[in-house]
This record gives sequence, structure tokens and C-alpha cells, in this order.
Amino acid sequence: MGELHGSHTRGGVDDVGASLASHPRRDSLLIRERLVEGVHLGITSEHGLIAHGRGEAFDYLIGERTRGFAEIAIRAAVAALLLAERPVISVNGNAAALVPGELVKLSEVTCAPLEVNIFHHSEERVDAIAAHLIGFGGADILRPSKEAVIETLSSGRRYVNPEGIARADVVFVPLEDGDRCGALRAIGKAVIAVDLNPMSRTSRDASITIVDNVVRAVPRMVERVLEISDGGEGEVLRRDVEDYEHASVLADAEGAIRSGL
Ligand code: ATP
Ligand code: MG
Repeated sequence: MGELHGSHTRGGVDDVGASLASHPRRDSLLIRERLVEGVHLGITSEHGLIAHGRGEAFDYLIGERTRGFAEIAIRAAVAALLLAERPVISVNGNAAALVPGELVKLSEVTCAPLEVNIFHHSEERVDAIAAHLIGFGGADILRPSKEAVIETLSSGRRYVNPEGIARADVVFVPLEDGDRCGALRAIGKAVIAVDLNPMSRTSRDASITIVDNVVRAVPRMVERVLEISDGGEGEVLRRDVEDYEHASVLADAEGAIRSGL
């Protein structure tokens, strides 16, 4: 599990970390604490906490580590982002609370802008997420706009940026909802998702699904970009995309959960 960053608020991640030093579920509890802090900062919605709970249960079942099926998908995802003409990284309240610095780094190394996209839309929350990303070094954060709308969606997620998701060919959506994943696919976008549940609609409908926790997957994606930036990239990238077989990656993930191996 990647290094967990400290908190800037009273009674936040650092305090909890100190009091949990020997707890067997320490990492999981620290991640949970970051989300609670995200709610206090106005970044994460209360519904996001519930969505995280569902993810935690699946993480427990996959052994709270990056498995082979996730690594194959991470390689394909990185390759797809690097081969894309107009890649965009979509950021919601949970992703912003969990991996802000890692998303900023991924954006830098893949030249894919960060775009805020949230289910429960409010200008204040968009501001809070954008400011949080800027605090972690982000620049030129794209915001949802009423000028570009995905008509088939009814939630706040329908509003996108005309220069970002609206014209993207590949959209990376760490933590997606099934409706939006399907809607993005229906308008011709390639979608890369991170979802701990290999049976969700998001996992099934995405073009590439990383069945892993975002707190492990996103830093590993940054690492992977740096690993392959040493020449011969084009060939490696095409091979990584070709090696990805969506149905078998999801079947392997589901098999690991069901068999307990
Ligand atoms: P779908 O809408 O795709 O069918 P769902 O309705 O079951 O899925 P949602 O409530 O829309 O689920 O979103 C929560 C999803 O996000 C769950 O599938 C959960 O596994 C996943 N999730 C939550 N936290 C994380 C995390 N930290 N890393 C990866 N996946 C996560
Ligand atoms: Mg859903």
C-alpha cells in the first residue's frame, strides 16, 4: 500500500494513524479516515462514504493487494492513455479525497487534464475539489459546464467540459457509476475504470477495468508510465493494449473472490 499522506485538519489521519499503529486493519481505517476528512473539507459527499464501504468489502475479498488481473489492466490502461489523442482524467469526490497528489502526477506524466465530475452537483463542491487538487500541485483543472451535456444522464454527471470529456477519446474514471460508464461508452469514448467489484455495471461496461483499490492502482499507474518511458514505447504500448482481454480479466477477478485464493 502506498504512503498515506498526513492530514491538515484536527483529529485527522495523523492522529488516527498514531492511535492505530498495531491495528490489523490499519491501512483500511486510515483510508476511511481520509474520506471522512474529505466530507469535512466539502470534497466528498456523504453518499461517497457508502460507496466506499461497498469497495472496502471487495478489497477485503481480493486480499487488499494489487493482483495479477489488476496489473494486466493497469498496463493496458497506461498504454491506452499514452496512445490517446485527447485523454482526460475524470475526478469525483472520493478520488479527490483518496489520491489527489497521485492523480496530479498521473495527469502530468500522461498529459491528460484533470476534470471535476460529480454526481451531486454543486458549485461549492466543484470549487473545493479543484482547490484541493491545486493544493497538491494540479494546474488548469477543468470544470463541468452546462455548455456540454451528456443527454442520457440525469445526475450532475451529465455536465462536462467542452474542452475536456466532451471531446476526449479516452476517459479515465477512477470510481465510476454504472450509468455514466455506459453513457460515455454509448457516445463513443473508451473508458478506463478502477472498481473493486468486478461484477458491477461499471466494471462490465468499461473498455478496461482495473479491479483494485484506487489508492494502490493510481500510484502504480504513475510508476508504470515511468517504467516504459525509456525507449521502444510504441511497441510496448501496443502490446500492453493487445494483451488485455476484458472478459478474462473480469472472470479472473471474480474467480479470485469466489474461490478465496
Ligand atoms: P455500478 O453502478 O457500476 O453497477 P454499484 O451501483 O454497485 O456499481 P456504486 O455505488 O455506483 O456501485 O459505486 C461504488 C463502486 O465503487 C463499488 O463497485 C465499489 O466497489 C467501488 N469502489 C468504492 N471505493 C473504491 C476504491 N477505493 N477503489 C476502487 N473501487 C472502489
Ligand atoms: Mg451505481
